[in-house]
Amino acid sequence: NKQVILKDYVSGNPKESDMYVTTSSIKLKVPQGLKAVLLKNLYLSCDPYLRIRMDRIQGSNVFTSFTPGSPLSGFGVAKVLDSGHPEFKEGDLVWGTTGWEEYSLITEPEHFFKIHHTDVPLSYYTGLLGMPGMTAFAGFHEVCSPKKGDRVFISAAAGAVGQLVGQFAKLMGCYVVGSVGSKEKVDLLKNKLGFDEAFNYKEEQDLDAALKRHFPEGIDIYFENVGGKMLDAVLLNMRPHGQISVCGLISHYNLNQPQGFSNLLSLIYNRIRIEGFVVFDYFHLYPNFLDMVLPYIREGKIVYLDDITQGLESAPAALVGLFSGRNVGKQVVLVSHE
Ligand code: NDP
Repeated sequence: NKQVILKDYVSGNPKESDMYVTTSSIKLKVPQGLKAVLLKNLYLSCDPYLRIRMDRIQGSNVFTSFTPGSPLSGFGVAKVLDSGHPEFKEGDLVWGTTGWEEYSLITEPEHFFKIHHTDVPLSYYTGLLGMPGMTAFAGFHEVCSPKKGDRVFISAAAGAVGQLVGQFAKLMGCYVVGSVGSKEKVDLLKNKLGFDEAFNYKEEQDLDAALKRHFPEGIDIYFENVGGKMLDAVLLNMRPHGQISVCGLISHYNLNQPQGFSNLLSLIYNRIRIEGFVVFDYFHLYPNFLDMVLPYIREGKIVYLDDITQGLESAPAALVGLFSGRNVGKQVVLVSHE
């Protein structure tokens, strides 16, 4: 059983060498009497929160640290090879939290979602139809109250979550602008994902000026994925009673000292509602989400960019690449074909 192991706790920027791939033996059967499933992992999802779990975590009621010397774990798509659990049978396709390894014995499979719709690519269950899709849905439609004509700004807009928030906002009739870290991503937002405008934040000397150029009348909804200087500049450009949905702060995850903000008074002057959320609190809405999004996919009204690397050996580089923007779309690792 090939596995991706965390070498030691990580501080600062994660590196490929913080992980290594090793092989151990595993019986491809659920032990007699155990209410567990044995999974063959097909796709693994690279998500920014995995970096948080590589650290020594203190004071979080959401995440626990990975254990150095043990495999990483995260969302993935898998096939049931053997089951001692009445709700799962051999051949079922599922998505949920699994090991970064070829085969995983899962003792609490109740947390997995069964995959019933296979007319769409299976890899979508790591992204569009999985946790990131639910994040875009919950963070935009549940945390905010978007209306037609709202001016919406999204950071990390070509990523797993951002590209969907933009498309959901366009379907609502909003004006949508995204910020991304390369010209290639700017072109994709404008030409493939239907954003009205996009800019490369790495090429802007002055983020406040870039936002004023795209939002001369201000921003109604900011979908926050990055934090740092971008959030500070956004605070200067929010419309009165605007909303900020704090999904992620990726520019903070590798910092030992949190970043300070200069423009927080704007929250008061402009009566802004700013709200963080955790997608796990919304997983009960998954059936509603599927009902909304599957028809859009089948009608071609939502498209999805994913970036699939081949083999477990590629997983450390793929994960680390999230922090330099190497991924174009949802970063997925193909472990094995069905
Ligand atoms: P992405 O697919 O967007 O990948 C991360 C992207 O972030 C990179 O491609 C890069 O794009 C950008 N990025 C990396 N470092 C920085 C930086 N220092 N400053 C600005 N941009 C940076 O990831 P996801 O869509 O999976 O996640 C997006 C955000 O949502 C993350 O912050 C994540 O933690 C959060 N999240 C929160 C959840 C919740 O429950 N609240 C659930 C899921 C995700 P670029 O080339 O544009 O720089």
